[in-house]
Amino acid sequence: MDKKKLSLVQFKRVRLNEKQLRNFTGFLKTKGRVYAPHRKGEKSFSFQEVDDPSKVVFNYPRTILPLKKFFQPPIETLLEFTINDNSYELPDIDNKNKIFFGVHSYDMQGVLRLDYVFSRGEPEYNYLKRRENSTFIGISFEPDEYHFSGSVGIDVENTEGFSIFIDIVDEDNYVVFACDNTGEELLKEYGIKDFESGEYKLKEREFKAKLKYHYGRLPQIFEKCYNYDVWKKVSERCLGCGNCNLVCPTCYCFDVEDDVDLKIEMGSRTRRWDSCMLNEFAMVAGGENFRKELYQRTRHRLHRKFKYITDHYGYPFCVGCGRCSQYCPADINMVEVVNDLIKEHEEREKVYV
Ligand code: SF4
Ligand code: SF4
Repeated sequence: MDKKKLSLVQFKRVRLNEKQLRNFTGFLKTKGRVYAPHRKGEKSFSFQEVDDPSKVVFNYPRTILPLKKFFQPPIETLLEFTINDNSYELPDIDNKNKIFFGVHSYDMQGVLRLDYVFSRGEPEYNYLKRRENSTFIGISFEPDEYHFSGSVGIDVENTEGFSIFIDIVDEDNYVVFACDNTGEELLKEYGIKDFESGEYKLKEREFKAKLKYHYGRLPQIFEKCYNYDVWKKVSERCLGCGNCNLVCPTCYCFDVEDDVDLKIEMGSRTRRWDSCMLNEFAMVAGGENFRKELYQRTRHRLHRKFKYITDHYGYPFCVGCGRCSQYCPADINMVEVVNDLIKEHEEREKVYV
């Protein structure tokens, strides 16, 4: 029995057809707000609150934005203040029950990485409050030309973080696994009485995009690659638009700004997503910029994914979703950049060893 089969075979399961799965999605709405992938335009998908279960998309390649938008919104008011009496008010943070339906394994891993970041040191109250009472229901996907989560240790069927995992066999055949007590209770309350268990054969799902080295070797390469040519080569094409940061499930940098009214009596503090690929990101008072050149910003972004945080966390901070490659207006592909880096490393090692 291989590793994939072992990971799912431990869970009880039930087989549902499309109608039953949509009914189950409708039932979930009695338990809290349900968010699931919906079609947005011809080829794009987005996590939205479920109003009509018939509009939920089960089989999709990836959503434009990952789940971070629910826990760290693109713009949020942190506080409102009154200058005269030096007082301030904090907004209410919504921590009501939420169910995220149809989440891919790499996006779940993205949430778990943000949990790690926002729980360390001074825990980040707003993120962690929003994150409370969240249940995740995973679903399988067919890797397209951009997915490479298999190269960073995340199988399609990785169930970590999920209460339920759904394996799509075909468009009218879904195998639903109860991965923890919450998931089992939900299925029982929906009306499932008989579960199957034991041997289960998964579909073979091959990743077309692959990193050339095992992810465990990458931090050592990043240790040596600071002055490699690859950074300048990539930055000749890069527009410095910051799209790659915005769509990334593990990018979380933000900017905080205070605004006051014209009478200088009241104001608010706002936090919004920021991007290390933008020129102003590393600019400080006096106009000094620590990463003025695009190649420096590209290098920094990739070090954040495969070296700096990885040294603490133990796994890459890239979950291989492929969003930065798909949505890059300059067609810069993460897998190609890392593989070019590996190639340059091999060439240089040959020269200098
Ligand atoms: S999305 Fe592409 S062009 Fe824009 S900053 Fe990122 S790598 Fe550069
Ligand atoms: S760096 Fe790119 S591929 Fe990796 S997690 Fe972020 S958006 Fe996805």
